[in-house]
Amino acid sequence: MIILLVLLWLPLCFCVAAYAANKGRSGVVGFVVAFLFSPLIGFIVVATWKTDADVIAERAGMVKCHACAEYIKPDATVCRYCRSEVQHPAAVTEEVDQSAPAISPTGKVVLTIVAVVFLALMVYASIMQSREATPAREGSTLTQ
Ligand SMILES: [Zn+2]
Repeated sequence: MIILLVLLWLPLCFCVAAYAANKGRSGVVGFVVAFLFSPLIGFIVVATWKTDADVIAERAGMVKCHACAEYIKPDATVCRYCRSEVQHPAAVTEEVDQSAPAISPTGKVVLTIVAVVFLALMVYASIMQSREATPAREGSTLTQ
């Protein structure tokens, strides 16, 4: 039963992280909140966050119009909001792609550490549980 709860915990934490990332917010913060306070609380906390439209637009490869600051397609020659002509420095789209990764390198390291610690605890818990369960099974046919 404990193992089942533990096995559900981590995937649910990742769901909360993905939910936060989809809102253009920090998936790492969402994951940590869900991991520490329960996925349900993490989900509620992330649900209260506002969606960051700028981050989502940048991730979709959109570029900012220099005149009106609205996000437009990178191939556009005329802004669809203000009708001004758009100049395309070649580096702009690459720069945007690098500046808005889904998860920062630091975040990946933190997530990896949390996952490893969690898996170690899970293995430890399953070992302890099997040790506790062994005396109870002595009478059954399952003893090896
Ligand atoms: Zn514009």
